[in-house]
Amino acid sequence: MPREGAYGKASRLLVEGRVIVVEASRHGVVAHVRGEGHVYDTRHQFGSWQCSCPAMNPTCSHIAALKRITAVDLHKRPHPITERQGA
Ligand SMILES: [Zn+2]
Repeated sequence: MPREGAYGKASRLLVEGRVIVVEASRHGVVAHVRGEGHVYDTRHQFGSWQCSCPAMNPTCSHIAALKRITAVDLHKRPHPITERQGA
C-alpha cells in the first residue's frame, strides 16, 4: 500500500472532523487541526499559509485540508460561473 500523501491525509482530516475553523474574516482564516497527538495552528494570513506543525512544509496535510475548505484566492481568478458563460 502506498504511503498516504498530503492530499489523502488532508481528505481524512476533513472526513474525520479534525479541522476546526476558529476564525474566518476578510483578514484571513485560522483553524485548529487535530493531528496525531497534537493540535496544530493552521492559518492563511497576509497572503501566506502557515502551520505550527514541525513539517515546515507549505503543503503539509493540515494546510492542504484548510485550503480545501477555504476560498482565499477567489479574487485572483474568474468566478467559476463566469468561466462557464459562453462555453
Ligand atoms: Zn501542518
